[in-house]
Amino acid sequence: MSTRESGRGPVLAIIGGGFSGAATAFHLARRLPAGAADIVVVEPREGLGYGLAYSTPDPSHRINVPASRMTLISGQDSHFADWLEQTGAIANDAEAIAANGALYPQRRVFGRYVESHLQPFLFGKTIRHLRSAVASAELSGEGYHLILADGGTLAADALVIATTHPPPALPLPLQSVIGAAGLVANPYDLERLEAIGRDDHVLVVGTGLTSADVIATLDRNGHRGRITALSRHGYRSRGHAAMLPIRSATSPASLHAAPPCCSGVSGRPSQPPRNRAKAGTRCSTPSGDKGKSSGRPCRSLSNAASCAICARCGMSIASA
Ligand SMILES: Cc1cc2nc3c(=O)[nH]c(=O)nc-3n(C[C@H](O)[C@H](O)[C@H](O)COP(=O)(O)OP(=O)(O)OC[C@H]3O[C@@H](n4cnc5c(N)ncnc54)[C@H](O)[C@@H]3O)c2cc1C
Repeated sequence: MSTRESGRGPVLAIIGGGFSGAATAFHLARRLPAGAADIVVVEPREGLGYGLAYSTPDPSHRINVPASRMTLISGQDSHFADWLEQTGAIANDAEAIAANGALYPQRRVFGRYVESHLQPFLFGKTIRHLRSAVASAELSGEGYHLILADGGTLAADALVIATTHPPPALPLPLQSVIGAAGLVANPYDLERLEAIGRDDHVLVVGTGLTSADVIATLDRNGHRGRITALSRHGYRSRGHAAMLPIRSATSPASLHAAPPCCSGVSGRPSQPPRNRAKAGTRCSTPSGDKGKSSGRPCRSLSNAASCAICARCGMSIASA
């Protein structure tokens, strides 16, 4: 059955209801005169505005830029931060406030913020949410004919594709270990992450923000074993304040540029809590002792091209 609703103006279909699709729908609804168009967001998730980034239920997954720099309305930089204050959304979350006063709420709170701004338009039916995925789209006359995964169809006059990130999948070079018992192919599969033993040695492939999420989840689950994060370039995600760059280089300067958790420098680094979570614990010493902060690089590097980073403290270490 076609989901076109007659007498409601042209159908503007938006495929994907993450931040991009939700923001597009929100701004169209705000700008167009009431009833001028039928704005339809096709999104399989329950809510609009969450997408991959802001749907994580893990409380240790936080936004990675301060709330004051995230907004639904460009030009109103404090829109999200003001919403947090007005709604008390982080009133019971002391960890959302960094040492420098910047706010880093849980990521799903940002999703809730976006969703709450769409809600009046959803109630008023200016925006419709079709909870399905688009299986295919084809040109039809001057418009588009969409076929949905649930068998439905949608005729649209204009189409916005906002599907962005594909679902997490195992990279090609790792396909040979697909199905292995200890493999967690989807970093947001919290059940699989929870099944990891407390003392297991975990290899995280990648040292970007997703690896920070994984390590924060392990930390929250009480994991105390070694974590080695492996990357081609040797960088980990960095904080926002003046931090010494951490790089897998052989220069004496970089080896002495220890981050606060390793160097014993007092004072808290001014970086997001999600980064603090991994930086604030401990690092393995060169001899492999667990639970001790070495106060210096875990191991010097002889080959910068094949390096790893101590995931707890961010120090460069040689890969085994
Ligand atoms: C883990 C992670 C954390 C991040 N944290 C931050 C942060 O803290 N601050 C920041 O500024 N940026 C952050 N980002 C960047 C973030 O990607 C963008 O801010 C933004 O969320 C991207 O939104 P999007 O709508 O383009 O993509 P997505 O959020 O991926 O949304 C795409 C949507 O399309 C839907 N979809 C896919 N295929 C179909 C289909 N065939 N039919 C219908 N729907 C479909 C999906 O279900 C999904 O909901 C983060 C990104 C990631 C991946």
